[in-house]
Amino acid sequence: MPARTDRTTDPGLRAALLLARRGQAYFSRTLNELRDERLDAPSLVPGWTRRHVVAHVGLNARALTRLTTWAATGVETPMYASPAERDAEIEMAATLPARALRHLSAHAAVHLDVEWRDLPDEAWSATVRTALGREVPARETVWMRTREVWIHAVDLDAGGSFRQLPAELVDALLDDVVGAWTRRQADEGLPALVLEPTDRPAASRRSVPGERAAVVRGRAADLAQWATGRGAVDVTTADGVPLPAPPRWL
Ligand code: ZN
Repeated sequence: MPARTDRTTDPGLRAALLLARRGQAYFSRTLNELRDERLDAPSLVPGWTRRHVVAHVGLNARALTRLTTWAATGVETPMYASPAERDAEIEMAATLPARALRHLSAHAAVHLDVEWRDLPDEAWSATVRTALGREVPARETVWMRTREVWIHAVDLDAGGSFRQLPAELVDALLDDVVGAWTRRQADEGLPALVLEPTDRPAASRRSVPGERAAVVRGRAADLAQWATGRGAVDVTTADGVPLPAPPRWL
């Protein structure tokens, strides 16, 4: 019997689901404000029109639905067959008539949400694998979706901005990026860095460890924009050294 509310009773997970749903609403609202003819224009993602962003966000919901189904059934269903197939699917969906593209985006989001809602507590800790090959508990799908919908809403270049994002999301993004850089630091020779949000307590500095770290300062939202590769606005270094280019995030 499908539930009308989330089956999980875990308060942390329920809060995470709420942030994902708020992000979906933000994305949908931003998309709804764009008239069809404006979908053909470039997005803020290099090489992608707004259509590509909408297609990708819809297809991402489908891919995360596959992981949620995997967690529920134990039958392995990967996010994508291959990176090439993922890209081809985005290219194809981006050519859909505007109405169909909007439908894809909305329907895929609802479907994912229903799967989450009905997932029992024990399935949330089942192991699934991300498109990048990382083994994660199924609950990670919530954060994976959260960062997609909020950031790609800004990428639509339709009035959204990092400064509109909730503080808890901005902080989680900074944790995510700095964590990713730290994990890959040795393998990829990534530089030491300190991110210093000027509108947060001093304890919220985040570091990619190492000698001679560049200290990058700015409002937390602006730092998140820079760190996720969306450009530097009001971000500076502490000692006048040139602002480094952020390493790749994902
Ligand atoms: Zn994405």
